[in-house]
Amino acid sequence: MDFDRFFEGELAKLHQAGNYRVFADLERHRGGFPRATRHRADGTTQDVTVWCSNDYLGMGQNPKVLAAMRETLDLSGAGAGGTRNISGTNHYHVLLENELADLHGKEAALLFSSGYVSNWAALGTLAAKIPGIIVYSDAKNHASMIEGIRHSRAEKRLFKHNSPEDLARLMAADDPKAPKLVAFESVYSMDGDIAPIKEILDVAEAFGALTYIDEVHAVGMYGPRGGGVAEREGLMHRIDVIEGTLGKAFGVMGGYITGSAALVDFVRSYASGFIFTTAIPPALAAGARASIIHLKESRDERRLHQENVAKVRAGLDRRGIPHMPNPSHIVPVRVGDAAKCKWISDILLDNYGIYVQPINYPTVPVKTERLRITPTPLHTDEDIKHLVEGLSDLWSQCALARAVA
Ligand SMILES: *Cc1c(COP(=O)(O)O)cnc(C)c1O
Repeated sequence: MDFDRFFEGELAKLHQAGNYRVFADLERHRGGFPRATRHRADGTTQDVTVWCSNDYLGMGQNPKVLAAMRETLDLSGAGAGGTRNISGTNHYHVLLENELADLHGKEAALLFSSGYVSNWAALGTLAAKIPGIIVYSDAKNHASMIEGIRHSRAEKRLFKHNSPEDLARLMAADDPKAPKLVAFESVYSMDGDIAPIKEILDVAEAFGALTYIDEVHAVGMYGPRGGGVAEREGLMHRIDVIEGTLGKAFGVMGGYITGSAALVDFVRSYASGFIFTTAIPPALAAGARASIIHLKESRDERRLHQENVAKVRAGLDRRGIPHMPNPSHIVPVRVGDAAKCKWISDILLDNYGIYVQPINYPTVPVKTERLRITPTPLHTDEDIKHLVEGLSDLWSQCALARAVA
């Protein structure tokens, strides 16, 4: 077989559909976020403002986080030195796990290389090892949860997105004696909608199910201490597993689960994706911990974040740029056409210095292609004005429909 020809043929399909992914080559500057330098393919550079970062609060450059990382790098060196089991457990991992358990009001926490790995390994292990378990998975769950559940080979039911009614219907149709697990998210990152957590828990509890929530897009940002939407709604104690990332609002890298001591020890002891991989560097763990500690006490970032989200929405409304309504911090502007979406994104970047990555299939369904705007506390009023005016210009050039006020 001519392998390269095969690869090229498959890539050509993506180009044709307008779904070929091109990375923006960015150089972030400490103290300068959301400003960055973009390196173009021809070797030239351009100053850009980033409008699609998941470093939602700018904690990736918070001085306390950086100081903790620098200090730990100097004290402990670069890598962890092994898997957690074989010489890789550094004291910083233990401190961070204690901090995370406290954040979510749980007995224990377990770190993973990333949020993706935490979902894949935890769901994969729980669903594979609990005999006869049936997994109920929200239809819009993240790829990492889907892959974990698939890997487990457990029976799986998809319930309609954010529908406790559909979940109840599916659960009632199954053997009452079969153990059950319900897996869902709080904030869904592409539409920015939020799950009816209480109603889903009511159903899950009625059927005696284990509950698993992904709060990746909520930790650090919601709740009085940044524990997520479940904290805000006083529901953390009703959820068996709360999963999160250290890579988005906390601004560093890594993933985790929190839960009962027995459940966490079980995953620690049986999950291949936890056991057979090098632990995260001590400096990462220390930085993430500093970020969590800061956001447990400081509410300024959360308040400014929400204020800027409201300003961006108001600006778009004034110009009639339709954005999908939702109760979160994510502002999806639907273009509904892969080629136009990419074109607008390209022109915004090249001519306006505004970086918003187009979100196309398979991340979102065909015809719902969008620009996913993520305001941060560090965007200025001037930045917001520039974004809205730029979008408005291109909206006219693409002859896209405006919303009537
Ligand atoms: C980004 C994301 C993850 C993965 O987290 P990482 O730390 O980036 O690997 C998991 N779940 C959801 C819903 C996500 O959007």
